[in-house]
Amino acid sequence: MNSSLVVFNSLTSKKETFKSILPNKVGMYVCGPTVYSNVHLGNCRTFISFDLIFRYLQHLGYKVRYVRNITDVGHLENDSDYGEDRIAKKARLESIEPMEVVQRYTLDFRDTMTRFNALPPSIEPTATGHIVEQIELIKKIINQGDAYEVNGSVYFDIIKFNKKTPYGKLSGRLIEELIHNTRSLEGQIDKKNPQDFALWKKAEPEHIMHWPSPWGEGFPGWHLECTAMSQKYLGSQFDIHGGGMDLKFPHHECEIAQAESVYKKSPVNYWLHANMLTLNGKKMAKSTGNNILPDQMFSGENKVFKKAFSPMVVRFFMLQAHYRSIVDISEIALEASEKGFNRLVEGIKTLDNLVASSITSEFDLKAWKEKCYGAMNDDFNSPILIGYLFDAVKYINATANNKQEISTKDLEELKQIMNEFFNDVLGLKSDEKSIKLSENIKLQGTLDLLSEIRDKARNSKDFETSDLIRDALAKLNIQINDAPKGSSFKIK
Ligand SMILES: [Zn+2]
Repeated sequence: MNSSLVVFNSLTSKKETFKSILPNKVGMYVCGPTVYSNVHLGNCRTFISFDLIFRYLQHLGYKVRYVRNITDVGHLENDSDYGEDRIAKKARLESIEPMEVVQRYTLDFRDTMTRFNALPPSIEPTATGHIVEQIELIKKIINQGDAYEVNGSVYFDIIKFNKKTPYGKLSGRLIEELIHNTRSLEGQIDKKNPQDFALWKKAEPEHIMHWPSPWGEGFPGWHLECTAMSQKYLGSQFDIHGGGMDLKFPHHECEIAQAESVYKKSPVNYWLHANMLTLNGKKMAKSTGNNILPDQMFSGENKVFKKAFSPMVVRFFMLQAHYRSIVDISEIALEASEKGFNRLVEGIKTLDNLVASSITSEFDLKAWKEKCYGAMNDDFNSPILIGYLFDAVKYINATANNKQEISTKDLEELKQIMNEFFNDVLGLKSDEKSIKLSENIKLQGTLDLLSEIRDKARNSKDFETSDLIRDALAKLNIQINDAPKGSSFKIK
Protein backbone atom coordinates (compact mmCIF):
# COMPACT_ATOMS: atom_id res chain seq x y z
CA MET A 1 0.00 0.00 0.00
CA ASN A 2 1.40 3.37 -0.99
CA SER A 3 1.12 5.56 2.05
CA SER A 4 2.38 8.75 0.43
CA LEU A 5 -0.96 9.65 -1.17
CA VAL A 6 -1.90 13.23 -0.40
CA VAL A 7 -5.40 14.60 -1.02
CA PHE A 8 -6.83 18.09 -0.84
CA ASN A 9 -9.46 18.06 1.88
CA SER A 10 -12.15 20.71 1.33
CA LEU A 11 -12.99 20.50 5.03
CA THR A 12 -9.59 21.85 6.09
CA SER A 13 -8.66 23.51 2.75
CA LYS A 14 -5.34 21.69 3.02
CA LYS A 15 -3.51 18.83 1.40
CA GLU A 16 -3.42 15.94 3.85
CA THR A 17 -1.79 12.53 3.85
CA PHE A 18 -4.50 10.00 3.13
CA LYS A 19 -5.06 7.39 5.79
CA SER A 20 -8.03 5.07 5.55
CA ILE A 21 -10.09 4.18 8.62
CA LEU A 22 -9.69 0.44 8.02
CA PRO A 23 -6.38 -0.84 6.69
CA ASN A 24 -6.50 -1.52 2.93
CA LYS A 25 -10.14 -0.50 2.67
CA VAL A 26 -11.73 2.75 1.51
CA GLY A 27 -15.35 3.84 1.75
CA MET A 28 -16.22 6.51 -0.79
CA TYR A 29 -19.55 8.23 -1.38
CA VAL A 30 -20.19 10.50 -4.36
CA CYS A 31 -23.41 12.46 -4.92
CA GLY A 32 -24.93 11.08 -8.10
CA PRO A 33 -27.20 12.67 -10.67
CA THR A 34 -30.81 13.78 -10.37
CA VAL A 35 -32.30 11.79 -13.21
CA TYR A 36 -34.79 14.20 -14.74
CA SER A 37 -32.93 14.96 -18.00
CA ASN A 38 -29.99 13.74 -20.06
CA VAL A 39 -26.79 13.90 -18.04
CA HIS A 40 -24.89 17.04 -18.89
CA LEU A 41 -21.24 17.29 -19.69
CA GLY A 42 -20.36 19.19 -16.50
CA ASN A 43 -21.75 16.32 -14.41
CA CYS A 44 -19.83 13.86 -16.55
CA ARG A 45 -16.64 15.69 -15.65
CA THR A 46 -17.40 15.29 -11.94
CA PHE A 47 -18.03 11.56 -12.33
CA ILE A 48 -14.95 11.08 -14.54
CA SER A 49 -12.88 12.84 -11.86
CA PHE A 50 -14.15 10.43 -9.21
CA ASP A 51 -13.69 7.51 -11.59
CA LEU A 52 -10.00 8.48 -11.78
CA ILE A 53 -9.86 8.61 -7.96
CA PHE A 54 -11.69 5.26 -7.65
CA ARG A 55 -9.34 3.68 -10.18
CA TYR A 56 -6.18 5.05 -8.61
CA LEU A 57 -7.16 3.96 -5.10
CA GLN A 58 -7.78 0.45 -6.46
CA HIS A 59 -4.49 0.58 -8.35
CA LEU A 60 -2.75 1.34 -5.05
CA GLY A 61 -4.28 -1.87 -3.69
CA TYR A 62 -7.22 -0.52 -1.69
CA LYS A 63 -10.46 -2.43 -1.66
CA VAL A 64 -12.87 0.43 -2.37
CA ARG A 65 -16.58 0.45 -1.69
CA TYR A 66 -17.78 3.19 -3.98
CA VAL A 67 -21.36 4.34 -3.38
CA ARG A 68 -22.93 6.75 -5.85
CA ASN A 69 -26.62 7.49 -5.47
CA ILE A 70 -29.35 8.18 -7.97
CA THR A 71 -31.61 11.05 -6.90
CA ASP A 72 -35.09 10.12 -8.04
CA VAL A 73 -37.18 12.19 -5.64
CA GLY A 74 -36.90 15.24 -3.41
CA HIS A 75 -34.68 17.46 -5.56
CA LEU A 76 -36.84 20.52 -6.10
CA GLU A 77 -36.43 23.28 -8.64
CA ASN A 78 -33.75 25.87 -7.78
CA ASP A 79 -32.30 23.44 -5.18
CA SER A 80 -34.70 24.95 -2.65
CA ASP A 81 -37.32 23.63 -0.24
CA TYR A 82 -40.17 25.03 -2.31
CA GLY A 83 -41.30 24.52 -5.86
CA GLU A 84 -41.91 21.47 -7.96
CA ASP A 85 -39.92 18.23 -7.79
CA ARG A 86 -37.71 18.08 -10.88
CA ILE A 87 -38.76 14.56 -11.76
CA ALA A 88 -42.46 15.12 -11.09
CA LYS A 89 -42.33 18.23 -13.27
CA LYS A 90 -40.81 16.34 -16.20
CA ALA A 91 -43.41 13.59 -15.74
CA ARG A 92 -46.20 16.17 -15.77
CA LEU A 93 -44.85 17.91 -18.88
CA GLU A 94 -44.53 14.65 -20.78
CA SER A 95 -47.65 12.97 -19.33
CA ILE A 96 -45.70 9.96 -18.14
CA GLU A 97 -45.06 8.30 -14.79
CA PRO A 98 -42.26 9.79 -12.65
CA MET A 99 -40.63 6.35 -12.63
CA GLU A 100 -40.60 6.40 -16.45
CA VAL A 101 -38.63 9.63 -16.26
CA VAL A 102 -36.29 8.03 -13.73
CA GLN A 103 -35.80 4.89 -15.83
CA ARG A 104 -35.16 6.78 -19.04
CA TYR A 105 -32.54 9.12 -17.62
CA THR A 106 -30.91 6.54 -15.36
CA LEU A 107 -30.29 4.43 -18.45
CA ASP A 108 -28.99 7.47 -20.34
CA PHE A 109 -26.66 8.28 -17.46
CA ARG A 110 -25.30 4.74 -17.19
CA ASP A 111 -24.91 4.45 -20.95
CA THR A 112 -23.02 7.75 -21.15
CA MET A 113 -20.72 6.83 -18.27
CA THR A 114 -20.01 3.46 -19.89
CA ARG A 115 -19.08 5.21 -23.12
CA PHE A 116 -16.69 7.37 -21.08
CA ASN A 117 -15.27 4.08 -19.74
CA ALA A 118 -16.16 5.02 -16.17
CA LEU A 119 -16.36 1.99 -13.88
CA PRO A 120 -19.76 1.41 -12.27
CA PRO A 121 -19.89 2.14 -8.53
CA SER A 122 -20.04 -0.76 -6.07
CA ILE A 123 -23.54 0.30 -4.97
CA GLU A 124 -25.92 2.66 -6.78
CA PRO A 125 -28.77 3.27 -4.33
CA THR A 126 -31.85 5.33 -5.12
CA ALA A 127 -33.62 7.84 -2.88
CA THR A 128 -37.03 6.22 -3.45
CA GLY A 129 -35.56 2.84 -2.49
CA HIS A 130 -34.54 4.24 0.92
CA ILE A 131 -37.64 6.06 2.17
CA VAL A 132 -37.77 3.86 5.30
CA GLU A 133 -34.15 4.67 6.18
CA GLN A 134 -34.81 8.38 5.63
CA ILE A 135 -37.88 8.38 7.89
CA GLU A 136 -35.86 6.58 10.59
CA LEU A 137 -33.10 9.17 10.29
CA ILE A 138 -35.59 12.03 10.68
CA LYS A 139 -36.96 10.41 13.84
CA LYS A 140 -33.42 10.28 15.25
CA ILE A 141 -32.77 13.94 14.40
CA ILE A 142 -36.07 14.93 16.06
CA ASN A 143 -35.03 12.87 19.13
CA GLN A 144 -31.83 14.89 19.31
CA GLY A 145 -33.92 18.06 19.38
CA ASP A 146 -32.47 19.31 16.10
CA ALA A 147 -35.65 19.13 14.01
CA TYR A 148 -39.26 20.20 14.42
CA GLU A 149 -42.53 19.29 12.77
CA VAL A 150 -44.86 21.91 11.39
CA ASN A 151 -48.05 21.14 9.55
CA GLY A 152 -46.89 17.77 8.15
CA SER A 153 -43.38 18.92 7.26
CA VAL A 154 -40.18 18.46 9.26
CA TYR A 155 -37.37 21.00 9.26
CA PHE A 156 -33.82 20.91 10.54
CA ASP A 157 -33.30 23.63 13.12
CA ILE A 158 -29.95 25.13 12.20
CA ILE A 159 -29.89 27.71 15.01
CA LYS A 160 -30.49 25.05 17.67
CA PHE A 161 -27.96 22.67 16.15
CA ASN A 162 -25.39 25.45 15.86
CA LYS A 163 -25.55 26.06 19.61
CA LYS A 164 -24.15 22.56 20.18
CA THR A 165 -22.05 22.03 17.05
CA PRO A 166 -20.84 24.76 14.71
CA TYR A 167 -22.66 24.78 11.37
CA GLY A 168 -20.81 25.87 8.21
CA LYS A 169 -17.47 24.05 8.64
CA LEU A 170 -17.20 22.93 5.04
CA SER A 171 -18.28 26.05 3.20
CA GLY A 172 -16.76 28.41 5.76
CA ARG A 173 -20.07 30.26 6.03
CA LEU A 174 -20.86 31.62 9.43
CA ILE A 175 -24.33 31.18 10.83
CA GLU A 176 -24.58 34.94 11.49
CA GLU A 177 -23.79 35.60 7.86
CA LEU A 178 -26.42 33.10 6.77
CA ILE A 179 -29.06 34.68 8.95
CA HIS A 180 -28.12 38.06 7.58
CA ASN A 181 -28.12 36.96 3.94
CA THR A 182 -31.13 34.67 3.83
CA ARG A 183 -34.22 36.22 2.42
CA SER A 184 -37.18 36.70 4.73
CA LEU A 185 -39.63 33.98 5.55
CA GLU A 186 -41.87 35.08 2.72
CA GLY A 187 -43.36 31.96 1.16
CA GLN A 188 -41.67 29.80 3.81
CA ILE A 189 -44.42 30.12 6.38
CA ASP A 190 -43.69 26.79 8.06
CA LYS A 191 -40.10 27.45 9.02
CA LYS A 192 -38.96 28.89 12.32
CA ASN A 193 -35.91 30.40 10.65
CA PRO A 194 -35.45 30.95 6.91
CA GLN A 195 -32.12 29.08 6.85
CA ASP A 196 -33.66 25.87 8.24
CA PHE A 197 -33.93 23.13 5.64
CA ALA A 198 -36.54 20.47 4.95
CA LEU A 199 -36.07 16.89 6.06
CA TRP A 200 -39.60 15.89 5.14
CA LYS A 201 -42.11 17.83 3.08
CA LYS A 202 -45.85 17.47 3.26
CA ALA A 203 -47.19 16.48 -0.16
CA GLU A 204 -49.64 18.98 -1.57
CA PRO A 205 -52.60 17.36 -3.37
CA GLU A 206 -50.98 17.98 -6.78
CA HIS A 207 -47.71 16.35 -5.73
CA ILE A 208 -47.64 12.92 -7.36
CA MET A 209 -44.67 11.41 -5.53
CA HIS A 210 -45.48 10.80 -1.87
CA TRP A 211 -45.15 8.21 0.87
CA PRO A 212 -46.81 7.67 4.26
CA SER A 213 -44.84 8.83 7.29
CA PRO A 214 -45.45 9.59 10.99
CA TRP A 215 -46.04 13.20 9.87
CA GLY A 216 -48.50 12.33 7.11
CA GLU A 217 -48.14 11.83 3.34
CA GLY A 218 -45.03 13.47 2.01
CA PHE A 219 -41.58 13.08 0.52
CA PRO A 220 -38.01 13.39 1.80
CA GLY A 221 -35.87 16.53 1.54
CA TRP A 222 -33.02 16.47 -0.95
CA HIS A 223 -30.13 16.57 1.54
CA LEU A 224 -31.47 13.70 3.61
CA GLU A 225 -31.03 10.84 1.16
CA CYS A 226 -27.24 11.16 0.96
CA THR A 227 -26.87 10.99 4.74
CA ALA A 228 -29.27 8.04 5.01
CA MET A 229 -27.60 6.07 2.21
CA SER A 230 -23.98 6.87 3.05
CA GLN A 231 -24.53 5.82 6.68
CA LYS A 232 -26.31 2.66 5.61
CA TYR A 233 -23.59 1.45 3.26
CA LEU A 234 -20.43 3.06 4.64
CA GLY A 235 -21.13 3.57 8.34
CA SER A 236 -21.41 6.65 10.52
CA GLN A 237 -17.86 7.69 9.66
CA PHE A 238 -16.23 6.95 6.34
CA ASP A 239 -13.18 7.96 4.31
CA ILE A 240 -14.12 10.01 1.25
CA HIS A 241 -17.17 12.03 0.25
CA GLY A 242 -17.10 13.59 -3.19
CA GLY A 243 -19.23 15.68 -5.47
CA GLY A 244 -19.27 18.75 -7.64
CA MET A 245 -18.01 22.03 -6.19
CA ASP A 246 -21.55 23.45 -6.44
CA LEU A 247 -22.79 20.88 -3.91
CA LYS A 248 -20.52 22.13 -1.13
CA PHE A 249 -23.21 24.52 0.05
CA PRO A 250 -25.89 23.91 1.07
CA HIS A 251 -26.09 20.21 0.16
CA HIS A 252 -22.90 18.89 1.78
CA GLU A 253 -23.10 21.31 4.68
CA CYS A 254 -26.58 19.96 5.44
CA GLU A 255 -25.34 16.38 5.15
CA ILE A 256 -22.71 17.12 7.80
CA ALA A 257 -25.29 18.71 10.12
CA GLN A 258 -27.72 15.78 9.78
CA ALA A 259 -25.04 13.19 10.50
CA GLU A 260 -23.42 15.13 13.34
CA SER A 261 -26.80 15.65 14.98
CA VAL A 262 -27.31 11.89 15.26
CA TYR A 263 -23.83 10.34 15.41
CA LYS A 264 -22.02 13.15 17.27
CA LYS A 265 -18.95 12.90 15.07
CA SER A 266 -17.70 14.18 11.74
CA PRO A 267 -19.20 11.78 9.16
CA VAL A 268 -16.43 12.09 6.59
CA ASN A 269 -12.63 12.29 6.90
CA TYR A 270 -11.87 13.70 3.45
CA TRP A 271 -14.23 15.90 1.44
CA LEU A 272 -13.21 16.07 -2.23
CA HIS A 273 -14.80 18.46 -4.72
CA ALA A 274 -14.47 18.46 -8.49
CA ASN A 275 -14.53 21.78 -10.28
CA MET A 276 -16.81 22.82 -13.11
CA LEU A 277 -16.61 22.75 -16.85
CA THR A 278 -17.23 25.83 -18.97
CA LEU A 279 -18.02 25.88 -22.67
CA ASN A 280 -16.29 28.46 -24.88
CA GLY A 281 -15.43 30.56 -21.83
CA LYS A 282 -18.93 30.67 -20.42
CA LYS A 283 -20.93 28.74 -17.86
CA MET A 284 -22.88 25.90 -19.47
CA ALA A 285 -26.63 26.47 -19.24
CA LYS A 286 -29.56 25.11 -21.14
CA SER A 287 -31.35 28.44 -20.82
CA THR A 288 -28.67 30.42 -22.68
CA GLY A 289 -28.07 27.76 -25.33
CA ASN A 290 -24.42 27.51 -24.26
CA ASN A 291 -24.85 23.81 -23.79
CA ILE A 292 -23.96 20.50 -25.40
CA LEU A 293 -24.93 16.94 -24.51
CA PRO A 294 -22.35 14.16 -24.50
CA ASP A 295 -24.26 12.30 -27.22
CA GLN A 296 -24.22 15.35 -29.47
CA MET A 297 -20.46 15.61 -29.03
CA PHE A 298 -19.92 11.97 -29.92
CA SER A 299 -22.15 12.09 -33.00
CA GLY A 300 -21.01 15.52 -34.19
CA GLU A 301 -24.66 16.54 -34.50
CA ASN A 302 -24.53 19.88 -32.73
CA LYS A 303 -24.20 23.56 -33.42
CA VAL A 304 -21.24 24.08 -31.08
CA PHE A 305 -18.48 22.06 -32.76
CA LYS A 306 -17.74 21.42 -36.41
CA LYS A 307 -16.83 17.78 -35.90
CA ALA A 308 -17.46 14.81 -33.68
CA PHE A 309 -15.19 13.92 -30.75
CA SER A 310 -15.00 10.38 -29.39
CA PRO A 311 -15.76 9.65 -25.72
CA MET A 312 -12.11 8.71 -25.17
CA VAL A 313 -10.89 12.02 -26.58
CA VAL A 314 -13.34 13.94 -24.36
CA ARG A 315 -12.28 11.88 -21.33
CA PHE A 316 -8.61 12.47 -22.15
CA PHE A 317 -9.34 16.19 -22.55
CA MET A 318 -10.91 16.29 -19.08
CA LEU A 319 -8.02 14.37 -17.50
CA GLN A 320 -5.57 16.85 -18.97
CA ALA A 321 -6.76 19.25 -16.29
CA HIS A 322 -6.57 18.72 -12.56
CA TYR A 323 -9.96 17.83 -11.09
CA ARG A 324 -9.96 20.91 -8.84
CA SER A 325 -9.40 23.44 -11.63
CA ILE A 326 -12.01 24.88 -13.95
CA VAL A 327 -11.75 23.52 -17.49
CA ASP A 328 -12.96 25.31 -20.56
CA ILE A 329 -14.07 23.10 -23.41
CA SER A 330 -13.64 24.49 -26.92
CA GLU A 331 -13.05 23.19 -30.42
CA ILE A 332 -9.37 24.22 -30.38
CA ALA A 333 -8.78 22.58 -27.01
CA LEU A 334 -10.55 19.38 -28.07
CA GLU A 335 -8.61 19.19 -31.34
CA ALA A 336 -5.35 19.56 -29.42
CA SER A 337 -6.46 16.77 -27.06
CA GLU A 338 -7.42 14.58 -29.99
CA LYS A 339 -3.94 14.96 -31.47
CA GLY A 340 -2.37 14.29 -28.09
CA PHE A 341 -4.54 11.27 -27.47
CA ASN A 342 -3.71 9.80 -30.86
CA ARG A 343 -0.01 10.39 -30.25
CA LEU A 344 -0.30 8.51 -26.96
CA VAL A 345 -2.23 5.63 -28.56
CA GLU A 346 0.34 5.43 -31.39
CA GLY A 347 3.15 5.52 -28.82
CA ILE A 348 1.68 2.57 -26.92
CA LYS A 349 1.20 0.67 -30.18
CA THR A 350 4.83 1.35 -31.10
CA LEU A 351 5.89 0.22 -27.63
CA ASP A 352 4.08 -3.10 -28.09
CA ASN A 353 6.16 -3.81 -31.19
CA LEU A 354 9.42 -2.42 -29.84
CA VAL A 355 12.42 -4.75 -29.70
CA ALA A 356 15.03 -4.44 -26.98
CA SER A 357 18.36 -3.53 -28.41
CA SER A 358 20.89 -3.36 -25.63
CA ILE A 359 21.75 -4.38 -22.11
CA THR A 360 21.49 -0.85 -20.77
CA SER A 361 18.82 1.79 -21.36
CA GLU A 362 19.31 5.44 -22.05
CA PHE A 363 16.18 6.23 -20.08
CA ASP A 364 16.03 6.36 -16.30
CA LEU A 365 12.97 4.19 -15.91
CA LYS A 366 13.08 4.14 -12.12
CA ALA A 367 13.17 7.92 -11.83
CA TRP A 368 10.40 8.24 -14.43
CA LYS A 369 8.18 5.73 -12.63
CA GLU A 370 8.67 7.62 -9.37
CA LYS A 371 7.66 10.85 -11.07
CA CYS A 372 4.48 9.23 -12.45
CA TYR A 373 3.45 7.97 -9.01
CA GLY A 374 4.54 11.26 -7.48
CA ALA A 375 2.07 13.08 -9.74
CA MET A 376 -0.84 10.82 -8.89
CA ASN A 377 0.04 10.77 -5.20
CA ASP A 378 -0.14 14.55 -5.23
CA ASP A 379 -3.94 14.83 -5.09
CA PHE A 380 -4.49 12.78 -8.26
CA ASN A 381 -2.63 15.14 -10.58
CA SER A 382 -3.51 13.51 -13.90
CA PRO A 383 -2.25 16.37 -16.17
CA ILE A 384 1.25 16.01 -14.72
CA LEU A 385 1.07 12.23 -15.11
CA ILE A 386 0.02 12.62 -18.75
CA GLY A 387 3.02 14.91 -19.28
CA TYR A 388 5.31 12.11 -18.06
CA LEU A 389 3.58 9.59 -20.31
CA PHE A 390 4.41 11.88 -23.23
CA ASP A 391 8.06 11.92 -22.12
CA ALA A 392 7.98 8.13 -22.39
CA VAL A 393 6.37 8.33 -25.85
CA LYS A 394 9.24 10.56 -27.02
CA TYR A 395 11.70 7.96 -25.82
CA ILE A 396 9.67 5.10 -27.36
CA ASN A 397 9.62 6.85 -30.74
CA ALA A 398 13.34 7.63 -30.58
CA THR A 399 14.04 3.98 -29.73
CA ALA A 400 11.85 2.82 -32.61
CA ASN A 401 13.90 5.09 -34.89
CA ASN A 402 17.15 3.59 -33.53
CA LYS A 403 18.16 6.87 -31.94
CA GLN A 404 17.90 5.51 -28.39
CA GLU A 405 18.24 2.09 -26.83
CA ILE A 406 16.31 0.05 -24.29
CA SER A 407 17.15 -3.11 -22.38
CA THR A 408 14.89 -6.18 -22.36
CA LYS A 409 14.10 -5.75 -18.67
CA ASP A 410 13.25 -2.06 -18.99
CA LEU A 411 11.19 -2.68 -22.10
CA GLU A 412 8.96 -5.15 -20.27
CA GLU A 413 8.58 -2.85 -17.30
CA LEU A 414 7.87 0.20 -19.44
CA LYS A 415 5.16 -1.75 -21.29
CA GLN A 416 3.56 -2.76 -18.02
CA ILE A 417 3.65 0.70 -16.44
CA MET A 418 2.39 2.47 -19.58
CA ASN A 419 -0.50 0.04 -19.86
CA GLU A 420 -1.36 0.33 -16.19
CA PHE A 421 -1.45 4.12 -16.23
CA PHE A 422 -3.19 4.38 -19.60
CA ASN A 423 -5.82 1.68 -19.11
CA ASP A 424 -6.26 1.06 -15.38
CA VAL A 425 -5.60 4.47 -13.85
CA LEU A 426 -6.60 7.00 -16.50
CA GLY A 427 -9.31 4.63 -17.77
CA LEU A 428 -8.41 5.24 -21.38
CA LYS A 429 -8.61 2.68 -24.14
CA SER A 430 -7.77 2.68 -27.77
CA ASP A 431 -11.26 1.53 -28.62
CA GLU A 432 -12.56 1.16 -32.13
CA LYS A 433 -13.47 4.81 -32.25
CA SER A 434 -10.05 6.03 -31.18
CA ILE A 435 -8.28 3.64 -33.53
CA LYS A 436 -10.60 5.03 -36.16
CA LEU A 437 -9.54 8.54 -35.16
CA SER A 438 -5.90 7.65 -35.48
CA GLU A 439 -6.69 6.13 -38.87
CA ASN A 440 -8.67 9.25 -39.66
CA ILE A 441 -5.44 11.22 -39.79
CA LYS A 442 -4.27 8.96 -42.61
CA LEU A 443 -7.71 9.04 -44.17
CA GLN A 444 -7.77 12.82 -44.01
CA GLY A 445 -4.46 12.96 -45.86
CA THR A 446 -5.81 10.63 -48.54
CA LEU A 447 -9.01 12.66 -48.85
CA ASP A 448 -7.04 15.90 -49.14
CA LEU A 449 -5.06 14.36 -51.97
CA LEU A 450 -8.25 13.15 -53.71
CA SER A 451 -9.73 16.59 -53.23
CA GLU A 452 -6.75 18.18 -54.92
CA ILE A 453 -6.91 15.78 -57.86
CA ARG A 454 -10.64 16.40 -58.20
CA ASP A 455 -10.24 20.18 -58.12
CA LYS A 456 -7.56 19.93 -60.80
CA ALA A 457 -9.84 17.75 -62.93
CA ARG A 458 -12.74 20.19 -62.56
CA ASN A 459 -10.52 23.16 -63.42
CA SER A 460 -9.44 21.45 -66.61
CA LYS A 461 -13.07 20.44 -67.27
CA ASP A 462 -12.30 16.74 -66.89
CA PHE A 463 -15.72 16.04 -65.37
CA GLU A 464 -15.46 12.33 -65.98
CA THR A 465 -12.63 12.10 -63.44
CA SER A 466 -14.18 14.54 -60.96
CA ASP A 467 -17.54 12.71 -61.03
CA LEU A 468 -15.80 9.37 -60.69
CA ILE A 469 -14.15 10.54 -57.46
CA ARG A 470 -17.40 12.05 -56.14
CA ASP A 471 -19.52 8.95 -56.88
CA ALA A 472 -16.97 6.50 -55.53
CA LEU A 473 -16.74 8.45 -52.29
CA ALA A 474 -20.52 8.77 -52.04
CA LYS A 475 -20.70 4.97 -52.03
CA LEU A 476 -18.44 5.03 -48.98
CA ASN A 477 -20.76 7.53 -47.30
CA ILE A 478 -18.30 10.35 -47.78
CA GLN A 479 -20.04 13.44 -48.97
CA ILE A 480 -18.21 15.95 -51.08
CA ASN A 481 -18.96 19.66 -50.82
CA ASP A 482 -17.84 21.93 -53.62
CA ALA A 483 -16.89 25.47 -52.79
CA PRO A 484 -15.18 28.21 -54.83
CA LYS A 485 -11.98 27.86 -52.77
CA GLY A 486 -11.86 24.07 -53.19
CA SER A 487 -13.85 21.04 -52.12
CA SER A 488 -14.18 19.57 -48.69
CA PHE A 489 -15.44 16.26 -47.32
CA LYS A 490 -17.87 15.13 -44.73
CA ILE A 491 -17.64 11.57 -43.43
CA LYS A 492 -21.11 10.40 -42.48
ZN1 LIG B 1 -25.71 14.21 -2.10
